[in-house]
Amino acid sequence: VRAGIVVTGTEVLTGRVTDRNGPWLAEELRRRGVDVGQVVVVGDRPDDLAAALRYLAGSCELVITSGGLGPTADDLTAEVVAGVQGRALRRDPDLEKRITAIVDRLMARLSVARDPEATAAGVRKQALVPGAATVLEPTGTAPGLVVTDAAGQNPPVVVLPGPPRELRSMWPAALEAPAVRSVLAAAGEIRQRTLRLWGLPEAELAALLRRVDDELTGLEITTCLRDGELEIVSRYAPAAEPAHERLLAAVRAEYGDQLFSDDGREVDELVAAALADRGWNVAVVESLTGGAMSARLTRALDDGTSVVRGAVVGREARQETSSAAATSMAQAARDELEAEVGIGVTAVDPADAPATTVHVAVVTPGTERRRTLTYDAPPALLRARVPTVAMHLLREALSS
Ligand code: ATP
Ligand code: MG
Repeated sequence: VRAGIVVTGTEVLTGRVTDRNGPWLAEELRRRGVDVGQVVVVGDRPDDLAAALRYLAGSCELVITSGGLGPTADDLTAEVVAGVQGRALRRDPDLEKRITAIVDRLMARLSVARDPEATAAGVRKQALVPGAATVLEPTGTAPGLVVTDAAGQNPPVVVLPGPPRELRSMWPAALEAPAVRSVLAAAGEIRQRTLRLWGLPEAELAALLRRVDDELTGLEITTCLRDGELEIVSRYAPAAEPAHERLLAAVRAEYGDQLFSDDGREVDELVAAALADRGWNVAVVESLTGGAMSARLTRALDDGTSVVRGAVVGREARQETSSAAATSMAQAARDELEAEVGIGVTAVDPADAPATTVHVAVVTPGTERRRTLTYDAPPALLRARVPTVAMHLLREALSS
């Protein structure tokens, strides 16, 4: 079973806003056995939206849209979807009352001055429902819709609001709509497993995958190199579970030392969990990375607690530095801030050198690790790469 997603919004098309709905919906559908082959992004133009809907109708059993449900003139998704599905829009007076109540509450809370005429016009627009549609109750102000095709040719279209929180809280209701349920009922399970490796060139992994290729029938494997980490994602039907086991065994036999996660967990999560297990805190001294290291450690535990005792963020880079200096920084941070773990990041001023030399050190109660790396990359890239190196040094220190 295949689904297509249309993300609308000129702000997403132009990159001013990064799409958070397409990938989220694709993963939600994948977990229910629905394969998403394409996410199409269109601006706020009715013709482009209609063309995208017709295009996806040719290859999908379900289409989902995000955005364009607001009260303003450029919010035109409901109207366009109705047109493509051959449905007339009609007023839903009860829905209009419910939206009015929501808008009134919102206006009162925000204490904004309002123009009653303009507000009413906006609400009237949002309460226009295509014939035979299922209405999904607003989780912000806009209702969502599930619209089937009058001619029975096109797949049903689920129309969801753009703001990600609104879309996510409306999603369970969309899954319950009869037209969506009957599509999902036909879907089989699609499994997805992620392996993560550190310190392995992509070409070596590619060679291994080629060698064992005929044992991997039934797996759709994608590999991706991100900040020095190699990610192997394998998707398959339950019948191919033995093939996935063979993949895992082959990777483990060849690159057991580099394989740091076989259950999808990322390094930040592993490190934070290991630190929390021991009740250890971290102190950071970082130049060059401008707080990126401590920010990552702070984010790593999603229960709101932090393993960061404190951080000192220094100037961009120094004239002269060494890996011994990085270690002293880590030790000093640890002592000064009374943490169990110290991390030091320092770099040589790139103005004086063709490339940036970065020293990273991690000190724990029992161990001390350091790495020196040379990058020919802009500062923005280093702010992502260097903390990843430190995370892996810390992970190795915690697992030894
Ligand atoms: P509203 O009633 O807020 O207008 P809407 O359904 O019309 O709802 P949009 O106007 O398309 O939604 O988007 C509202 C805001 O939601 C955007 O300014 C943007 O910040 C956010 N948003 C919309 N689509 C996306 C997306 N795909 N990914 C991330 N954020 C998005
Ligand atoms: Mg909009």
